[in-house]
Amino acid sequence: MIEKRDFYINGQWVAPSQANDFHVIDPSTEEPCTVISLGGQADTDAAVAAAKTALPGWMATPVEERIALVEKLIEIYPTRAEDLAQAMSMEMGAPIDMSRTQQVGAGIWHLKNFIRAAKSFQFERPLGDHAPNDRIIYEAVGVAALITPWNWPMNQITLKVGAAAIAGCTMVLKPSEQSPLNAMIFAEMMHEAGFPPGVFNLVNGDGVGVGSQLSGHPDVDMVSFTGSTRAGTAISKNAADTLKKVHLELGGKGANVIFADADDKAVKRGVLHMMNNTGQSCNAPSRMLVQRPIYDQAVETAAEVANKVTVGPAMQEGRHIGPVVNELQWTKIQALITKGIDEGARLVAGGPGRPEGFNKGYFVRPTVFADANNQMTIAREEIFGPVLTMIPFDTEEEAIEIANDTPYGLTNYVQTQDGARANRMARKLRSGMVEMNGQSRAAGSPFGGMKQSGNGREGGVWGLEDFLEVKAVSGWTPE
Ligand code: NAD
Repeated sequence: MIEKRDFYINGQWVAPSQANDFHVIDPSTEEPCTVISLGGQADTDAAVAAAKTALPGWMATPVEERIALVEKLIEIYPTRAEDLAQAMSMEMGAPIDMSRTQQVGAGIWHLKNFIRAAKSFQFERPLGDHAPNDRIIYEAVGVAALITPWNWPMNQITLKVGAAAIAGCTMVLKPSEQSPLNAMIFAEMMHEAGFPPGVFNLVNGDGVGVGSQLSGHPDVDMVSFTGSTRAGTAISKNAADTLKKVHLELGGKGANVIFADADDKAVKRGVLHMMNNTGQSCNAPSRMLVQRPIYDQAVETAAEVANKVTVGPAMQEGRHIGPVVNELQWTKIQALITKGIDEGARLVAGGPGRPEGFNKGYFVRPTVFADANNQMTIAREEIFGPVLTMIPFDTEEEAIEIANDTPYGLTNYVQTQDGARANRMARKLRSGMVEMNGQSRAAGSPFGGMKQSGNGREGGVWGLEDFLEVKAVSGWTPE
């Protein structure tokens, strides 16, 4: 059992003010694997105070120096890559090969993209040719609370820490209590990179404890949160009294609209995308909308593909999906699968219970429902497991209506070989991102949602701007 009870505050590892042990469970074995402490008000206050004290110095540090420290972090990152991969596989269940490539890879990718964005970002710029004495200055928002989930841990942490650091914010990170170990390894990397004390702090804790203490703290200027819509609402309410900025990256229920003229890999691609990370991605294409002429064939293909998806423990090498993160999620997914059956969707792959051969571990059968309609619970709620919901449609208008009929608006997907139609769809879908024909978004593209999927944009220039205030100055003397 790994014991990691300390927090990283003001450049050093310190013991929690009060003992409050929390056991992190390995979802592949259901055994405790790490013990951490859940922080309390005194720990939160100490971390926020350190960040507040460090703020003026960090803001005054030239951006080139802040960038240089992030570059140093990028140098260190590969030396800890295997530690990060092992930690994430153990605590949140991502299969080890997928951890090494996708989970670890996402972190360094974002850090590099921020460097590129920052190098061409004008932190000071004229308002315009018409107003030579007006200046726009982009300045750090201040002390930032960074609250992250367990599903893509290093992805989320780097998206927030990289941007905050370059923008000149100081910060307190509260990673998910389900996956704290990778975050503590990341804190060691920040220390090794030489960030000044107080710029980056980490306090472990749960949502009702450290999470709420941060969102309500008078000395915290902004909260950058990624997680469930439920917690996003609670954070927004709690942050309202101090009117801090709140950036939210929340859940999703993405539609993958497959037209009859889609390429012949579209259905397979959609199913595998859904199953990646055991379905635990906010941007998962969880509703597959298929045009009627190819619908029956698509259902057959989806079932075949899902039946071939293998399930295995996170530490097993090779291509398979792992368990879901914890018992709570497993139970919730089981209830939703049962609900799908009860509400009349047709189960064509998977179903309730553990996959054959497992009597332990939070493993879920790769599941596909066909003949669903958009009012069924499995079409409305974010399941966050390897469960795909297929819905037939006839016309482009109907597809748009179904896709947009959801409280969420994170990512939608379009598959068609008709370029004009694809572009029409991209304009009409109400989501922060639209990905077409399997092409993923390029480096520096903003990640974020509309409606109940949140309001922030992470990554690249937009990610930096989330941590910056715009200051308008008049009477500026041109230099
Ligand atoms: P969660 O909301 O339960 O927890 C996320 C984080 O918030 C954790 O650190 C948790 O301790 C903290 N938290 C919980 N309640 C809180 C509260 N009241 N105040 C302050 N902090 C609180 O979510 P999760 O189960 O860890 O993650 C899964 C969710 O995250 C899914 O809904 C998924 O869609 C979403 N997600 C969104 C994005 C995105 O960018 N849009 C990316 C990844 C995950």
